[in-house]
Amino acid sequence: MKIRVLGSAAGGGCPQWNCACRNCRGARDGSVRIEARTQECVTVSADGEAWFLLNASPEVRAQIESFPALHPRRPRDSPIQGILLTNGDLDHTLGLLCLRESHPLVVYATEAVRRGFVESNVLYRTLQRFPGQVSWRTLRIGAEVELWKDGGDRSGLSVEALRGSRRALVYLPAVGRLTPEVVSAADGAGCLFFDGTFWSEDELRELGASEKRASDMAHLPIGGAGGSLAALGGARTSLRIYIHLNNTNPVLREDWPERAAVDGAGWQVARDGMEIEL
Ligand SMILES: [Zn+2]
Ligand SMILES: [Zn+2]
Repeated sequence: MKIRVLGSAAGGGCPQWNCACRNCRGARDGSVRIEARTQECVTVSADGEAWFLLNASPEVRAQIESFPALHPRRPRDSPIQGILLTNGDLDHTLGLLCLRESHPLVVYATEAVRRGFVESNVLYRTLQRFPGQVSWRTLRIGAEVELWKDGGDRSGLSVEALRGSRRALVYLPAVGRLTPEVVSAADGAGCLFFDGTFWSEDELRELGASEKRASDMAHLPIGGAGGSLAALGGARTSLRIYIHLNNTNPVLREDWPERAAVDGAGWQVARDGMEIEL
């Protein structure tokens, strides 16, 4: 399986248009060792020909252009065979509205996510220009869906939202708390992408950016006693990568102690353009 990170930041990206936190300033003026990042979107393929997007960020158009494998090969064509939505947040779904131009789309989502996006959303009309413009496929928690099958010995990507069996790719960019299902899904994954939104519970409050805590926004922080770094320390996962990184997160700074802690524990911090071959 081929995996390419098209965007690695949480909603807002880094720098975020209305933020001058240390990281955002650093990404603009070079005063901090940090890379700019677009909002989270990952693309995967079994054969390098047919690709699926994991989430559709508001920056999806530029993200597609950034990766030649996703470019059309004929007038009116796309190697993108479908889009999987991990939840209904705007930074994961707005990109669907950018994928118009009369192109049929196949979208995989839970029924709750589908309903939230389709019903009482006047903008959704833009994807209802012709019958069958969007085909929704229902993801059920714990159920497998076969994305591609080619009869040969190539294995398909099984997306199993949360269950404990071993999977090549486990993609969990938004984790509110560590349930036993999350822990067992992470354990033994060939490649684990995990919620790296915040380093600490009070990151936004300390900056004066928001009154919200990480837990109010359903994101488990990386650091601290109950954080994912400590809690997932025992997971048998060969490749573990933090993604959906909020621009306030100190792990984005390459020469900061929080980054050293993550590196030292064997985790990677996702970058736009990162590629993995499984
Ligand atoms: Zn998000
Ligand atoms: Zn910022």
